Amino acid sequence: MKIPFNRPLSLGNEIEYMKKAVDNGKLSGDGEFTMECNLMLERMSGAKKALLTTSCTHALEMAALLLDIKEGDEVIAPSFSFVSTVNAFVLRGARIVFVDIRPDTMNIDENLIEGAITERTKAIVPVHYGGVACEMDRIMDIAERHGISVVEDAAQGIMAAYRGRALGSIGHLGAYSFHDTKNYTMGEGGALLVNDKGYIDRAEIIREKGTNRKEFLRGTVDKYTWVDIGSSYLPSELNAAHLLPQLMDAKKVNENRLQTWSRYHEGLKDLEKEGLMELPLVPGHCSHNAHLFYIKCKNMEERTRLMDFLKDRGIASVFHYIPLHSSVAGMRYGRFHGRDTHTTRESERLLRLPMYYGMTKEENEKVIGEVCRFYG
Ligand SMILES: *Cc1c(COP(=O)(O)O)cnc(C)c1O
Repeated sequence: MKIPFNRPLSLGNEIEYMKKAVDNGKLSGDGEFTMECNLMLERMSGAKKALLTTSCTHALEMAALLLDIKEGDEVIAPSFSFVSTVNAFVLRGARIVFVDIRPDTMNIDENLIEGAITERTKAIVPVHYGGVACEMDRIMDIAERHGISVVEDAAQGIMAAYRGRALGSIGHLGAYSFHDTKNYTMGEGGALLVNDKGYIDRAEIIREKGTNRKEFLRGTVDKYTWVDIGSSYLPSELNAAHLLPQLMDAKKVNENRLQTWSRYHEGLKDLEKEGLMELPLVPGHCSHNAHLFYIKCKNMEERTRLMDFLKDRGIASVFHYIPLHSSVAGMRYGRFHGRDTHTTRESERLLRLPMYYGMTKEENEKVIGEVCRFYG
């Protein structure tokens, strides 16, 4: 039995929807399927506006444009994240101020954010790792008191919530990813969530190459013209048509993933009790989406041995981010605020186990069994 790390979500009916998109005779953006996805996302998240994009990276770039990030501005983000979290702002000239994470959730430590704020700080970008929420009440309070914006990198956060509020819908702006490795996929794609109404019109313009095409199509202006900076951030209808049926069945997918996650947790909790390794923590006020299941080994050496052990038994497991502040670009475009107590140490011992929709009980139990064997 070979167990891959991920299987891109496929429910089987995507092709029917994609065929309809082809039959519609319009594959370019903002047709029927994109509009349906936007509405679904607004309904699921409660965001004032959801706009499907070509990627989460591009949704974050749109956020940086909307916030008018300029040369010399500072943006606060965790170092334990994907490059796009910060690249979007570096592209506008910002310097990144990396803040340490909490070892329990691997999310930015909300208690360290305020100390990292300077007169140049324009935004905080919390990343909800594995669909487990950052401490958003605290983060929003800090942002409000200092007059700075919050962009949630909710790439992994769709269908997850913080105190009952959907991730991505709490900050001024939020971004989802629909990459093949995420819970719902359109191949490459994402969405920008606009929660502050003041950004909606400009978001539509930036997404449409800096034109007022959207207003023109609505009939609210009589000329279609260049009105602002922008780029092409709207995906093809084919991609939207792949995503739509998955969003329609989002609950089923989420429940299935959560079941796999719970089986892992149940099956491995004795190892944690014996102090052999650690399991992920989901605070009581957060509901997650089982985006990933990780364990924490004693150290990097043990993790490498476990990875090899699993690989020899046909099981793919992978580690995650190399901290951004220690990368070539991270050193050039950012600085670490305060001490790196947890970021490097925790990232070196984190190992992600196979997780995908439709993982069978046998596959699930095989992985659990082999991890137990390694430690036993
Ligand atoms: C996947 C991911 C992204 C990038 O998403 P794309 O849709 O591939 O651009 C950004 N941030 C985080 C935290 C991610 O996990």
